[in-house]
Amino acid sequence: MSCPSHKNEYYSQALAEEQLIDLHARNNYANGDGPVNVYMCDICHHWHLTSTGGLNLELKEQMENGELKKKQTAYQWENKL
Ligand SMILES: [Zn+2]
Repeated sequence: MSCPSHKNEYYSQALAEEQLIDLHARNNYANGDGPVNVYMCDICHHWHLTSTGGLNLELKEQMENGELKKKQTAYQWENKL
C-alpha cells in the first residue's frame, strides 16, 4: 500500500534511521536543513523521515562521536573516483 503523504516508506524504525543518517552523510546539510528525524505514520503505519521536530538520537550520536564525519569523508572519496 502506498501512503497518501507520497513520502518514502520504511518498514522499521531502524531502516528509516539508517536512511536518515545516510542522507546526512551524502548531503552534508547545513544546520537546520534536511530531514532530522523519523516517525511512524498514522496512515500507512510505516516509517517516514521528517524535517521538523527534534534531532534523532542516533543521528545526534553519530554527529557527536564523529561517525557521521567518517561517512561523509567516505562519500567524498567515492565521488572523486
Ligand atoms: Zn505514511
